[in-house]
Amino acid sequence: MKTLGLLMMLSISIFCCSSAALQAPESELQGAVSVPVLGFHNIEDVPVSPSGSTITLKRFCMDLDALENTGYTAIQFKDLENWVHRRTALPAKPILITFDDGYVSNYVMAYPELKRRGMKASISVIGWSVGQSFNSKGKPIIPHFSWDQAREMSDSGVVEIQSHTYDLHNVGGLSLGTRQRVGYGVQRMRTETLEAYSKRLNADLRQSIEDIEAHVGNAPQALAYPFGAYRNDTKAITHQLFKGTFTITPGVRAFSSEQDLYEIPRILVRDNTSVLAEIRKYMVDDNLPWMQGVVQLLGLLGIGEALWFLTNDIRKSRFLNGSEQ
Ligand SMILES: [Zn+2]
Repeated sequence: MKTLGLLMMLSISIFCCSSAALQAPESELQGAVSVPVLGFHNIEDVPVSPSGSTITLKRFCMDLDALENTGYTAIQFKDLENWVHRRTALPAKPILITFDDGYVSNYVMAYPELKRRGMKASISVIGWSVGQSFNSKGKPIIPHFSWDQAREMSDSGVVEIQSHTYDLHNVGGLSLGTRQRVGYGVQRMRTETLEAYSKRLNADLRQSIEDIEAHVGNAPQALAYPFGAYRNDTKAITHQLFKGTFTITPGVRAFSSEQDLYEIPRILVRDNTSVLAEIRKYMVDDNLPWMQGVVQLLGLLGIGEALWFLTNDIRKSRFLNGSEQ
């Protein structure tokens, strides 16, 4: 009990001394909204490797139910973009459900489940692979949905189609789609001049944008970086062509201004993790902005660890006493 009192006094005094110094301009504090962005890939209706990026249909439905039951409303990237640029209203607990690669399972399994619940999603497709079950070497790949299926999902309003490049979803060497020399994802090759890189990346991304617009009717606004990989010279090009970009860096961002739409962190969903537990791990309460200040200050003073240790002890004893909520 003594420890708890001491801890509270410490927190309060730190907060009082520091609140003026830590106060951000009002324009920044007002209207920031934390939106968790989930990253899904393939879905199977048979058992899968628990830690891989493919999840079971059962897990997917459990995740959607959990989000629904805790009051989350699924939005799309265009809603987030509208909010950031025009402050168009968002629901109380917005969440963005994204899929990468464009697997046919997204159409066959995810789309009906989303539709049934009135939920929405954003799917980023690899241009060359749309409708394909084999790569350019003739090797079988996980089947991808067709342009007709993409159009149907997009027309329904349930899914928006975004870009995952035209043919830069490769680890390097000859690309899987058009057999061109490429680097790791959208990154520059070691031997490539900046000019050649700029030309190559621009050409690929423009092809992706044009294809999606021609087949689906809307140009993509966002790019999901293959493997989450990018560098500064990449951003100079992607920021010109897209209103936002997705990474696979874990986290939840508080969105406020235009720059927050770029290099957005995502929570990658696995079969063996609860989506709500993952969100809780990274979520910062928008109603407690001063909490961020306190945490930052404790870090600066180097006493964050000590406080963490103390609260651990308190939490443990609360747990042993059966008072943990
Ligand atoms: Zn991918």
